[in-house]
Amino acid sequence: MIDENFICENCGKEINKLGYTARDHCNYCLYSKHVDINPGDRKNTCLGLLKPIGIEKFKDTYKIIYQCEKCKQIHKNIMASDDNMDLIIKLSQINWDSFIMLISFNE
Ligand SMILES: [Zn+2]
Ligand SMILES: [Zn+2]
Repeated sequence: MIDENFICENCGKEINKLGYTARDHCNYCLYSKHVDINPGDRKNTCLGLLKPIGIEKFKDTYKIIYQCEKCKQIHKNIMASDDNMDLIIKLSQINWDSFIMLISFNE
């Protein structure tokens, strides 16, 4: 995995590298980019924007659930320590039933 600075394609902010692990999403708007097939491999040619649509508990942290705006695939990233907490909380309050419907609709 490469930890590098990048410009967020959704909000346009420059995102500094994280330091402890590879930064894979914007810590302001939480958007990510569909670049991985397996986490960190950067082998996906889709390159669509990954839109955050939900949160799920993962060990002692959380995973952000994404849906690619281009290929509609569901993708998950572990949240970073400096992520926008307000947005994380907002996402975690999304109605779980409609979320599951959304996933089955796209499969
Ligand atoms: Zn952003
Ligand atoms: Zn995609």
